[in-house]
Amino acid sequence: MYKLPNLPYAYNALEPVIDARTMEIHHTKHHQAYVDKLNAAVEKYPDLQAKSVEELLMNLVEVPAEVRTAVQNHGGGHANHSLFWTILAPVDANKVKDQPEGNLAAEVNKVFGSFDQLMEEFNTAALNRFGSGWAWLVVNQDQKLQVFSTSNQESPLSMGQIPILTLDVWEHAYYLSYQNRRPDYIKAFWQIVNWSEVNRRFMAAMK
Ligand code: MN
Repeated sequence: MYKLPNLPYAYNALEPVIDARTMEIHHTKHHQAYVDKLNAAVEKYPDLQAKSVEELLMNLVEVPAEVRTAVQNHGGGHANHSLFWTILAPVDANKVKDQPEGNLAAEVNKVFGSFDQLMEEFNTAALNRFGSGWAWLVVNQDQKLQVFSTSNQESPLSMGQIPILTLDVWEHAYYLSYQNRRPDYIKAFWQIVNWSEVNRRFMAAMK
């Protein structure tokens, strides 16, 4: 059975960027629902249950056709949120380092020209995603950093890419505090990125 992971911080830890009520509903209702529906989808498939959700998403073609869409949607929802929680950190923890570090910083400069340019590309991807979806920074199949967005709960893992940073732009992620102001939410997001975790994921993906 797939399980809802605990958050590595309190529900109010990301305020004022993301309010406590949004975090609690997002985690205990939205994410929990993806976990429950993923479990229901694989109920009759012990061989699928034996795999991690990431393995399922990386090999969607091996998932029986009758549950493939459910695994893509709910497995994607589970994996995307599980990643999202880990790449966020309280504002206070970030006061001394609010940008990429280590090898990731060098690679960002090489690929995008500057951190500002990366943020601009990422913000544009997040803003232009029509309806619900996610913005991503991934290590692609050529071991290069790349920014794009996906629709609904589609995961970069299903495209052979390894996500290292992401932003949920479904309205449920920001509506209580920001209502229709997605640009304000996207801009504020940069205050709560957990760069040590993003760098750790980058280093693991580049091996
Ligand atoms: Mn969400």
